[in-house]
Amino acid sequence: PPDQLPADKEKPTLVVLGSGWGATSFLKSLDTEEFNVVVISPRNYFLFTPLLPSVTVGTLEPRSIIQPTRYITRHKKRKVDVYEAEAQEVDPVKKTVTFQDLSDIRGAAGSVTIPYDYLVYAVGCENQTFGIKGVTEHACFLKELSDADKIRTKLMDCIETAAFRDQPQDEIDRLMHMVVVGGGPTGVEYAGELHDFLIDDLKKWYPEVADRLRITLIEALPNVLPAFSKQLIQYTESTFAENKIDVLTRTMVKDVKDSSVVVQDANKQMREIPYGLLVWATGNTSRQITRDLMNKLSAVQTQRRGLLVDDYLSLLGGEGVYAIGDCTATSYAPTAQVASQQGIYLAGIFQKLGQKAKLERQLAQLRAAPNASPEEIEATVKKLNRAAKLTPFHYSHQGSLAYIGSEKAIADLPLFNGNVASGGGAAMLFWRSAYISTLYSVRNRTLVLADWLKVKIFGR
Ligand code: FAD
Ligand code: NAD
Repeated sequence: PPDQLPADKEKPTLVVLGSGWGATSFLKSLDTEEFNVVVISPRNYFLFTPLLPSVTVGTLEPRSIIQPTRYITRHKKRKVDVYEAEAQEVDPVKKTVTFQDLSDIRGAAGSVTIPYDYLVYAVGCENQTFGIKGVTEHACFLKELSDADKIRTKLMDCIETAAFRDQPQDEIDRLMHMVVVGGGPTGVEYAGELHDFLIDDLKKWYPEVADRLRITLIEALPNVLPAFSKQLIQYTESTFAENKIDVLTRTMVKDVKDSSVVVQDANKQMREIPYGLLVWATGNTSRQITRDLMNKLSAVQTQRRGLLVDDYLSLLGGEGVYAIGDCTATSYAPTAQVASQQGIYLAGIFQKLGQKAKLERQLAQLRAAPNASPEEIEATVKKLNRAAKLTPFHYSHQGSLAYIGSEKAIADLPLFNGNVASGGGAAMLFWRSAYISTLYSVRNRTLVLADWLKVKIFGR
């Protein structure tokens, strides 16, 4: 917009890597007046991940849960540059970032290197495969919007193929077997959504094969959802049993083939399970760029899990670099809740850095002025000292929520100095209202509510 301040060579350059939970909440709260801000991310939008499983079966439309990054930056005081590109290298000594447009349409520009004064590193993580053979080739992940789309297409293809004329019985059984690996919240929520699709829609549309659909969730540990309270784990497992979702616990996937997975069960027995669709949700691992950065700072970056930061989210060993969200190794879980609180906190740190720079300029002017009053100088020095005082990041846990299918959700809430665990329809209403209230814009809220209503009336 014309009233945005243009870039100012006198101000420091702040580069933000990413457009996920951490980077977006940072950008939303950031005052850009004192910085030239550059945002680099391969995705030019924010994705509301908690509702991503709902996109895999058409409960929600993809556009309802994304928000363009430019929607946020175009309202900032000073102009922000947004580049749809992948950062390839961070040089913490020279203080530069190298990035390139690696999307399908690239133009003639090659890779670009720019200097930064400050860097906010929020590139998240990639999918963990533990190096298990065949995962990347044959399984679908559930992290990005394109993953949800791929699952939706593949799921429908399996069902249509199963309904194809003269399909052999054992092939129908294979095609209609949907296997989910990983009993964390991603795997559980996906299995729940899939069950709803079966009950609400498939039975009507594909009566000839709907009853053959089976959902199996494979988890290496003794139970699903290890981060939730015991009561909610039991509630989830019994709801899944009622919904005929098979849960294979103490079972570890060892190998993935194009139409079956090889698992080792609790008795160390190996067996092969045929599948039509395989969804892989076994958690996170660091991105290559993060591993490279750790290697460059190996004297202090000693955690393989992620980047180490101090209490103010400043990267150990990286001057002017701050890291937030899933790419860090802290005592907090890799969740949207943590990343967004860190983003807001960091915007506060930058507010202080901006104030400090402003006050330093004022002080220099005052000291240079022949008739400046000593009281005024002293007051400015006091303000400067206040701006330099930082409080460490403090995480406030608002509870954990997960949708488990058949209009039921589970909620672990830290209330009244203790934990309140709740499961069922009330938790489901709470789950919906919590997500609606945290969805970033009025546009997103309206779209999500309209999608939910549409599904109630017309089905998926
Ligand atoms: P992300 O949100 O992953 O963002 C990373 C950003 O960096 C992206 O924009 C990406 O495009 C960009 N990027 C990647 N590579 C580069 C590069 N080389 N250069 C520049 N940019 C790059 N958490 C909850 O608290 N509650 C939930 O209900 C919940 N549900 C979830 C459901 C699903 C299906 C999934 C997958 C996750 C869920 N999470 C939930 C976890 C939550 O999404 C993550 O913890 C959160 O996204 C972390 O935020 P982040 O900013 O660190 O990373
Ligand atoms: P996760 O790390 O929470 O769970 C992965 C699960 O996969 C683990 O329980 C692990 O034991 C299992 N596993 C690993 N290898 C296996 C194998 N070979 N065979 C069988 N099982 C195997 O991963 P996630 O569910 O993707 O969650 C990632 C993060 O995002 C977590 O911090 C989670 O809290 C957060 N998240 C939160 C929500 C929510 O709050 N509703 C939803 C999704 C994700």
